[in-house]
Amino acid sequence: METLETSPMSSGSNSVQRRESFAMPEKESTSPVNFIKSIILDDLKAGKYGGRVHTRFPPEPNGYLHIGHAKSICLNFGLASEFGGLCNLRFDDTNPTKEEIEYVESIKADVRWLGFDWDDREFYASDYFEKLYEFAVTLVRKGKAYVDDLKADQIREYRGTLTEPGKDSPYRNRRVQENLDLLERMRAGEFPDGARVLRAKIDMASPNLNLRDPVMYRILHAEHHRTGDRWCIYPMYDFAHGQCDSIEGITHSICTLEFEDHRPLYDWFLDALEIDHPRQIEFARLNLSHTVMSKRKLLELVREGHVTGWNDPRMPTLSGLRRRGYTPESIRDFCERIGVAKRDSMVDAALLEHCLREDLNRRAPRVMAVLRPLRLVIDNYPDGQVEELEALNNPENPAEGTRKVPFSKILYIEEEDFMEAPPKKFYRLAPGREVRLRYAYFVRCVDVVKDDATGRVVEVHCTYDPDTKGGDSPDGRKAPATLHWVSADHGIPARVRLYEPLFTKADPGEGEGGADFKAHLNPLSLQTLNECKLEPSLSHASPGSRYQFERLGYFCVDTEDSRPGKPVFNRTAGLRDEWAKIRRTVQHTGAVPEQKPITPVEKEITVEDFSKLDLRVGVVREASLVEGAEKLVKLGVDIGEGRLRKVLAGIRSAYPEPEKLLGRRVMVVANLKPRKMKFGLSEGMILAGSGKGGLGIATFDGDLLPGDKVS
Ligand code: ATP
Ligand code: MG
Repeated sequence: METLETSPMSSGSNSVQRRESFAMPEKESTSPVNFIKSIILDDLKAGKYGGRVHTRFPPEPNGYLHIGHAKSICLNFGLASEFGGLCNLRFDDTNPTKEEIEYVESIKADVRWLGFDWDDREFYASDYFEKLYEFAVTLVRKGKAYVDDLKADQIREYRGTLTEPGKDSPYRNRRVQENLDLLERMRAGEFPDGARVLRAKIDMASPNLNLRDPVMYRILHAEHHRTGDRWCIYPMYDFAHGQCDSIEGITHSICTLEFEDHRPLYDWFLDALEIDHPRQIEFARLNLSHTVMSKRKLLELVREGHVTGWNDPRMPTLSGLRRRGYTPESIRDFCERIGVAKRDSMVDAALLEHCLREDLNRRAPRVMAVLRPLRLVIDNYPDGQVEELEALNNPENPAEGTRKVPFSKILYIEEEDFMEAPPKKFYRLAPGREVRLRYAYFVRCVDVVKDDATGRVVEVHCTYDPDTKGGDSPDGRKAPATLHWVSADHGIPARVRLYEPLFTKADPGEGEGGADFKAHLNPLSLQTLNECKLEPSLSHASPGSRYQFERLGYFCVDTEDSRPGKPVFNRTAGLRDEWAKIRRTVQHTGAVPEQKPITPVEKEITVEDFSKLDLRVGVVREASLVEGAEKLVKLGVDIGEGRLRKVLAGIRSAYPEPEKLLGRRVMVVANLKPRKMKFGLSEGMILAGSGKGGLGIATFDGDLLPGDKVS
C-alpha cells in the first residue's frame, strides 16, 4: 500500500580509495554551517590535503548501531557528499574477544538503510595488521617503543594519577636489539597472554595520562573473526586508529569528544612515523533522554532479557527504531536538526518523535483500527445490511485517493470513547449524546448493556440518523466528536503493541558511571493488546509498512512476529491527544496547561529549582517575521552549539522590524523541551520583560560569548 523507501545517498561513486582530484562543494550548501563544516571550508580554501575531503565512519563491530551512531554516520557521509568527497566504512576490529560477524553484517545493513553507500570502500583495521606491525617495528628501531615485562596491575600502578606523575618501568631502557627480538617472539607466540606488552616511549610525567607510555600491543591468543589465528598480538585501539586513518588518506577524522585527550597521542605516533596526518575534529556525542546509548549497556539489556533483542522496538538501536516504524528520512532529519556541538548535552526524545510525525503525517495512509473494542449496536440499522463507505487515504494528500470501508449494524468503537458518567471536558459518546462516526453517520446513545458481575458496560446501543450519511447533518447539527470504528463482522483481529520509554528517568546512565541504570527500567514500557480489530483493508498489509490509525497514532506491521492473516502492529508514535495531555498535566502537577500570566507575587522556589533552568547567552543571527502570525518573530539564535536554535518569540509588537535584533545578545532558556507551535518548532525561549510600559527583551552588556552561562 505504501512505499517508504529511501534513496541511497552515495558519498561519491568513485571507486578508488583515494581521489587526488580537487573536490570543491558541488552545490551551494543548503544545510546550516556548523563548526566542522567551517573547518573543512577553511581547509579547502587554504588548499590543504590537495583540496580533498575524505572522511570515514569507524564502528567497532561489538554491538548494533544506535541513534548516536546515526549522528556520526550522517555527519561523515553527509560532509563527504556535500563536498564531493568520499567516506569509508571502516571496522575498528582490533579486539577479537568482543567482535562478531553478526555485528559487521548488522552495521552494514543499518548504514545502507539509513541511506548511505560506501561503494567498495569497506575496510577493516585488521586489513592493516601487517602494516601496523611494521609501524611498531619502525618505532622500536627509532628507540620510541619498548617491550615491557610489567604485569597489567603494575603498569597501572606505575602510571601515576592525575595529580602525581608516573614512574618509569625498569624495562624502559632496553636496547633496541633486545626490543626487536622480544617483539618478534611476542608475535611468534612464545609468550602467554599478558606476559609482555609493547609500549610507546613518551613521557611518564606527562600531565596527559594518554602520553604516559601507552600500550601499543598486547598478547592475546584469540581467534579473530577475519584473521583467524594468524595473530596472537593485537594493536590497541589508540595505536591503530590514527594510523588506519593515515593509510586510507583520511583528511578529516571526525570523532567524539572523549578522544580530544587522545589527539596528542595520535599526533605523536603520526609524527614519529613521519606519515600522512589527518585532521582530527571532535564533536559532542548525542545523548537522548529516557534511554542509554552505550553498546555495553545495550548488550546488558539484551543478554539479561530486559528486551527481546537488539532490534526490540524499544531499543535506541537503528534496527530497533526501524522495527518500531521509524523512517530513515526522519532519522536523517533529526540528525540534521540536532546539529553538532562542542559541549555534551541531552536531546529530548520528543524531538526524534517530532521528526517522525512530520514525515509520517505526509506519507502514512490513514486507516481505522480499534485497540480496545467496545460493541456498539445500531438498533434502527437494518439487520444484515452492509454499506461500503468511501474513506480518504490521506487528507494531507488527496492524490492518494480513497478506499471502501464496510459499515454494518454492529460495530466496534474504542472503549475509552464512551463514558457512562462523563466528566467535564469529555466530549465523546455518553448516554443521550450524539457523535459522528467517521465517514458514516451521526449516532445517538440510547442504552447500555452491563456485565452483571462487574458492572462494566459491554455494549452500547445507539440509533443512527440516515440523513447524516457521509458525516454531515443537513439541518446543521454539530457533533462534538468524531469516533473511529470497525465493523464487527468485517474487522480483522490483530495484536498491537504499545510502547513507552524504556526508562523512567531522563538520564538513566547518569551518576556513578551509570552502574544502576537498570534500576530505572520502565516496567510499563511494553503493553500488548491482543483483541484489536482492524478495518479489512489491512488484511494485506505487508511487514514493515506504516499507517496512521486514525486518532491513535502511527503504527507499523512488525517484521518478526506477524504471520499472514495474523498481523502484529507496533505503535511507532502516538498522535498528540489533547485530552490525555490535560489529564496528565492535571494529574502530575495540578497545573492547567495554558500559560498563566505572571502575577506579581510568585511562590518562592529554591536555588535547586532555579538551577534547573539552563540560561545561556545567545546572539541573534537571523530574525524575520512569521507569515500569518500576528505576534510572532522567528529568530535564529547562536548559543555556541555550532548551529542556530530556532526560537519563535511573541515579541512582534515591540519589534515590528526584527532585523534590528541581529547581533543582539539575548537571554535564552536553553533546556526547554522543543515546542511544536502552529508555525513550526520552537527550540528555546528568549526572556523579555512586559507590562504597562510595553515589551522589551533582556539583553547583556559586555562581550559575552554565545553559550556563556547566565546565573
Ligand atoms: P558506545 O559508547 O555506544 O559503545 P563507541 O564509541 O564505542 O560507542 P564505536 O563503534 O566506536 O562506538 O563508534 C563508531 C563511531 O560512532 C565513532 O566515531 C563514535 O565516535 C561515534 N559515536 C558513537 N556513539 C555516538 C554518539 N552517541 N553520538 C555521536 N557519535 C557517536
Ligand atoms: Mg569506540
